[in-house]
Amino acid sequence: MITYKKLAEEIQSRTGIRTKTLLHNWIGPILGKVVREADHRGDPPLTALVVHTDDGKVGSGYKEVLAVAGEPPVEDEMAREYHAANARLACYRHFGAALPPGGGKPALAPRLQGAVERRRARVDKPPQVCDSCFVQLPSTGICDSCS
Ligand SMILES: [Zn+2]
Repeated sequence: MITYKKLAEEIQSRTGIRTKTLLHNWIGPILGKVVREADHRGDPPLTALVVHTDDGKVGSGYKEVLAVAGEPPVEDEMAREYHAANARLACYRHFGAALPPGGGKPALAPRLQGAVERRRARVDKPPQVCDSCFVQLPSTGICDSCS
């Protein structure tokens, strides 16, 4: 897995072609070429390996992968991210990456996985209330009114 930002640096240093153009104005078309070439060669979609730095998502650019593969668009954001996780595993297998025993499982980018787990923890945990006044406690766990 690699971030768009890091990939952009790699592309520029390895090709020797530098640009001051904003990343999002040129990386999409390049990744479009990459995914079409991968499809042409019968390789899995390499562009599934590229995620955003801030949230670990493949983002809206992933629609090109689905289009090239002749698959219908995936509108749900997390469904799209899990689709990409499966595609990444296909890439690791195809290109002979070192995999854990059992062959590994599809995985979200660590940053996105962390966000998913934090969201789940919030949903699963009922809000804590004060034993005395039954007002919802702040994150400190100490009632502002009764302490
Ligand atoms: Zn209280």
